[in-house]
Amino acid sequence: MPNWDQNKISNATVFLAGIGALGCVVAEILTMMGIGKLIIVDFDTVELTNLNRQWLFRNEDIGKSKALVAKERLKTLNPSIDVITFNQKIEDIPESVYSSCDLIVSSLDTFEARRWLNSMCISVEKPLIDAGLYEFFGHVQVIISGSDSACLECQPLIPENRLQQVCTLPGEPRKKERDEQKEVFPSVGTVSAVIGGIMSQEIVKLLLGLGTPIGYLFYDGLSEEFTKIELKRRLDCFVCGEKWKLDELRYFVERDEKIGELRRRIALIYGLADPTMIVGTKIVDDEMTITEAEISEHAPIFVIDSTVAKPIRVRVVLTPDFV
Ligand SMILES: [Zn+2]
Repeated sequence: MPNWDQNKISNATVFLAGIGALGCVVAEILTMMGIGKLIIVDFDTVELTNLNRQWLFRNEDIGKSKALVAKERLKTLNPSIDVITFNQKIEDIPESVYSSCDLIVSSLDTFEARRWLNSMCISVEKPLIDAGLYEFFGHVQVIISGSDSACLECQPLIPENRLQQVCTLPGEPRKKERDEQKEVFPSVGTVSAVIGGIMSQEIVKLLLGLGTPIGYLFYDGLSEEFTKIELKRRLDCFVCGEKWKLDELRYFVERDEKIGELRRRIALIYGLADPTMIVGTKIVDDEMTITEAEISEHAPIFVIDSTVAKPIRVRVVLTPDFV
């Protein structure tokens, strides 16, 4: 193949967030292709129900760490590749690990974790290949930081009920830990082979600098139809948009408005899980008013949340007092 440059493949580092059905396909293809380094992140253990489609695992692996078993098996396929494993959540991995990769691959099983990873990829300016499976359906989305393609947060395909799922309003009990609320996505090896194959193809294209990234692709395994959608980046997207980074996000508030009310508004607008508001270096309490929290129009408020890797910067505009 005239365009093939094995050096580019052999020197590449790929980050795999999740080594389930899709992660197994991608890891196996990249390993046999002679990828330089794979970073595998997964804190799950192998279960009996994984064995119909997660090709790297066997009966005797049940109960063992997926990341470690995957590493062992991949090494038997190609002893010359370097495999690093992290048996922990993506949020606990240092940013330097993300920046050290050529690209990041997500086949995570919670929407909240995918959103977090999306914001990390935008922040460290690395391409993200995000994919998911559901029964006979699957999708792949390639997000290139800094290009005009949409990120996960600015595309319109986030189902509203999924956003609401992670949203806990002030006063409600805190949401459960992520691993407790893990959703079940039934899938089969036939679909993961198709989707994992497309993901691997996108990875190879990006590493070799060939072709055009896919954008968003939906696969219907029953009709065998592929639907490609061009998703445009939103300039005001709070994760990838340039506009808010320059202007910041502005909200009109009354001086006596409670922080809790502003927090609730911001949580609803961005579908955040349970945001914390920081003014200066202090966390501001829900019961404080804008005046008590000493929020001025010039000082930004930082909003941190489990769905984003970096704080969102917000500025309030005080509505004038009419006497
Ligand atoms: Zn965006």
